[in-house]
Amino acid sequence: MSDADRNEDSPAQLAPGLYLVATPIGNLGDITLRALDVLRRADRIACEDTRQTQKLLNHFEIATPTISCHEHNERERAAELIGAIKAGGRIAVVSDAGMPGISDPGARLAAEAIAAGVDVIPIPGANAALSGLVASGLSTSEFHFIGFLPEKAGARRTRLEDLAAEAARSGGARTLVVYEAPHRILETLGGLEAVWGAGLRVVVARELTKIHEEFVRGTVAEVRQELTSRDRVRGEIVLLVEALPRTEGQAGSQAASNEKISARIARIQAEAPADAPLDENQALKRLARELGQSKSDLYRELQRERARRH
Ligand code: SAM
Repeated sequence: MSDADRNEDSPAQLAPGLYLVATPIGNLGDITLRALDVLRRADRIACEDTRQTQKLLNHFEIATPTISCHEHNERERAAELIGAIKAGGRIAVVSDAGMPGISDPGARLAAEAIAAGVDVIPIPGANAALSGLVASGLSTSEFHFIGFLPEKAGARRTRLEDLAAEAARSGGARTLVVYEAPHRILETLGGLEAVWGAGLRVVVARELTKIHEEFVRGTVAEVRQELTSRDRVRGEIVLLVEALPRTEGQAGSQAASNEKISARIARIQAEAPADAPLDENQALKRLARELGQSKSDLYRELQRERARRH
């Protein structure tokens, strides 16, 4: 089917296929005309949560039957829905909010539909990640969609360290786009500050498209201070991070950044409290975290320095 066919205002029937339909992320005004049309004319709407979607359908007086399709049944539903499309059906897929398949169910269904030779048709619309990114003021030319960080503190910290190491290797600036829960935002900002340094530029995009939409922009230390001063941080959040190879706060002066690894390790060891001394391996680990580089890269550099000395 050609795009022209798909864009026809109201052909008698939708073409058979799987329609991935974006829904609003807070402001009902963000539903598109095409989304309404597809939701009205589909045979069925596969929903992450049928009760949630029913509210949207009621608001727009859409009577299309719904069926659940969430992370726990997406695999089984896929076979059923693909079978229905092969028999000539039109299935719309929606998540609770935004684009299905983006940190939401839908991607597996789309992949299986494609593998089965069924048409998959995106119906674009609201998305929290891109909305936060474009209004952040950070670079949009290269960005890395992270979605949710791991829930456990240790795993989250490791992921942040890996991301800092990646940024150090890439050598260029890119913006990280993270979905974060309000009760974890302070901890994540703390982790970013520890890994990248206090000068890292971040933006907390909160409650996008809603009445209390807000952007808190600044260095990670400033944004953390601002949010800490509040009773509670509420609402939905997209966190944008300017992932430079290093930041001023972390790297210090240019002279410091030229300092030899061996000298830095000696300094870290000298600064350690007398009752908790650090061996070389521990100091190297801490330095790797500070610089956002991998410990093995730093170790190799240290070996090269020592070889040059002999
Ligand atoms: N599929 C959705 C999309 O296209 O944006 C994302 C779904 S994900 C399960 C939900 C997360 O997206 C929230 O926890 C929050 O991090 C982010 N989010 C969703 N709506 C938002 C909004 N209005 N403002 C800020 N962040 C939002």
